[in-house]
Amino acid sequence: MYTSINDLKQVGRAVSVCVECSLSETRNRAVPGEGPTNAQVLFVGEAPGYNEDMQGKPFVGRAGTFLNELLKSVQLERGEVFITNIVKCRPPNNRDPEATEIAACKKYLDKQIELLEPKIIVTLGKHSLNKFLPGQKIGLHHGKSQVIDGQIVLPLYHPAAALHNGSLRNVILNDFKEVRKVLNAKRIDTTREKDIGEQLNLF
Ligand code: SF4
Repeated sequence: MYTSINDLKQVGRAVSVCVECSLSETRNRAVPGEGPTNAQVLFVGEAPGYNEDMQGKPFVGRAGTFLNELLKSVQLERGEVFITNIVKCRPPNNRDPEATEIAACKKYLDKQIELLEPKIIVTLGKHSLNKFLPGQKIGLHHGKSQVIDGQIVLPLYHPAAALHNGSLRNVILNDFKEVRKVLNAKRIDTTREKDIGEQLNLF
């Protein structure tokens, strides 16, 4: 982790010139992520795609349009959440990021989490889920917020999955309601790892 980086803009600057994995050789622009420094919700996707790589911004393609719709469904504006990815540079032909690339890029996401201290981290897709629950499958965990090392994490399918599988669209929309439940909760005991669903039902 970069202890000398003290704010999110510095993370962005470091990412934009980073050459610590081979994705730097094929990217057009690195995509550090964006959002306000006081965001309560941090979305973590997998990797930039074509449009993101061209614009240097996260979730600007069709998956981004669906993400905007999801945010609206729980009365959230895009400008009040922080959105980033597990790896900050586009893998060639949108292939999955490799373990070495995820490892090389980990320090940036860790720093973003440390600086933001979000109320909830929403993981989008398998690679993002596996940062918090290594080796786990999304089908088992989607839509269920849980406390992991003191942090509330809500695993969701990646919005892009709904573009290829229409039946997932309603699943993701339904799972997304959990974001609002967590935000509305007056208090969640993050020392209790197993019963967040039970706690949310109190509100
Ligand atoms: S993916 Fe991450 S580690 Fe690799 S070059 Fe981009 S910013 Fe650096």
